[in-house]
Amino acid sequence: MKAVQYREIGKGPEVVDIDVPEPGPGEIRLKVLAAGLCHSDWFLMDLPEDQYVYPLPLTLGHEGVGEVEKLGDGVDGVQVGERYAIYGPWGCGVCHACAQGKENYCPHAAEMGIAPPGLGAPGAMAEYVIVDDKRHLAPLGDLDPVESASLTDAGLTPYHAIAAARDKLTPGTTAVVIGVGGLGHLGIQILRATTAATVIAADVSDDKLELARKVGAHHTLRSDDDAVARIRELTGGEGAVAVFDFVGIQPTIDLARETIAADGFIHIVGIGGGTLPTGFFSTPYGAAVRAPYWGTRPELLEVLDLARAGAIGVHVERYGFDQAVEAYQRLHDGAVQGRAVIVP
Ligand code: NAD
Ligand code: ZN
Repeated sequence: MKAVQYREIGKGPEVVDIDVPEPGPGEIRLKVLAAGLCHSDWFLMDLPEDQYVYPLPLTLGHEGVGEVEKLGDGVDGVQVGERYAIYGPWGCGVCHACAQGKENYCPHAAEMGIAPPGLGAPGAMAEYVIVDDKRHLAPLGDLDPVESASLTDAGLTPYHAIAAARDKLTPGTTAVVIGVGGLGHLGIQILRATTAATVIAADVSDDKLELARKVGAHHTLRSDDDAVARIRELTGGEGAVAVFDFVGIQPTIDLARETIAADGFIHIVGIGGGTLPTGFFSTPYGAAVRAPYWGTRPELLEVLDLARAGAIGVHVERYGFDQAVEAYQRLHDGAVQGRAVIVP
């Protein structure tokens, strides 16, 4: 089968032919219908050899949707031909966090060698993918697979971050979204659909700011030296009650720190390597900083329901396997509008 793999440090993704994997006991083989490209794929492919902790070769793709094609021994309650979105942050399944559906915060997964598909286990950027357990399948129903694949990460991750701040985002408050890429363009829509906050979006590209307005941002601005003053002005000097940084480099984290309101909530979602040392005098009184990871199983069902209700939608660029390397290059160059998705 065709697969997009990272095979050699520093060489980027490659399209290769590999064996179709067999589902073991309890596992499910899906025929992949669509798989999204995430900037986190570049995070790992840009790591130098001494920091690279993932297996090689690694089949990429931690955003996937597919149709059940073969069941491993002992799988019941799932039928061949049914369509599912894959819940990616796999946990041990039995601890307190997992019992609440918060497998993204399972404290045992790493030590047990459990890794998400595409970020350790073989991913969805292939003709077939193995899902380790049926609890990691979210029914797709009548959702379009290509338009849904990226809801599993680019939708779920902002949803999880926003859910934690939702109580603060009352009418009259402001939320700032930094970085209007795959995650950010969905973050804006989720803020509009689930909160009453005014949404300000910041990016370095005019095309992205145009997309931000199209998907519902009330105000857009360039993420430059004037951004702090503009956001202060738009919030009547108070600052934003929540800032979602979908870039995470030092300049964007600094922007978040300088625009957060008292008692506000900074979410560093992007893994750009910046830091925000906190102490009594480094942020306004009461402000909190969080670095959320992916999202929970119930939240994935809620994200799919939001899409089903028409309240959010992924802005998709479609590519075939043969264009995967080119699509990854566009993502690296910041040229993708919304999310690039491989359609086998
Ligand atoms: P993307 O490439 O689709 O989008 C990034 C956006 O940021 C682009 O629109 C780009 O123009 C913009 N940008 C770049 N520099 C900027 C700056 N200085 N100011 C404002 N905007 C700027 O990336 P993505 O796939 O949406 O991922 C976003 C980040 O989130 C990445 O770091 C990714 O690794 C990370 N991520 C984290 C989690 C998590 O669980 N925490 C999950 C998925 C992705
Ligand atoms: Zn991702």
